[in-house]
Amino acid sequence: MNIIADNLCVHDKRSSSYADIHAYDDPDEIPAPRINCFCDNCFYGRDRLAVELENNRQKIDRFLELHLASIEERRSLGTTSRLGRAIDACDKLNEDF
Ligand SMILES: [Zn+2]
Repeated sequence: MNIIADNLCVHDKRSSSYADIHAYDDPDEIPAPRINCFCDNCFYGRDRLAVELENNRQKIDRFLELHLASIEERRSLGTTSRLGRAIDACDKLNEDF
């Protein structure tokens, strides 16, 4: 279960419902996600929040990729430092996504 994917527009390829809903559809006839869409996730605004969370998750992933060596080096300082605790919090957040 991926809480972000569960809340994306059902026409978004990243949605957990996409494969079930569009399994037998012609790819050229699948509606564009979000545009004039009234699926439950769009209607209730869950898609907008899910997109925002997904974008932030991607930013966190990019940040971790860019700074992984530095983070690993600093992690060796231990988790008692403020920076160590912040890194641990980022790791936990990333695992939850
Ligand atoms: Zn939708």
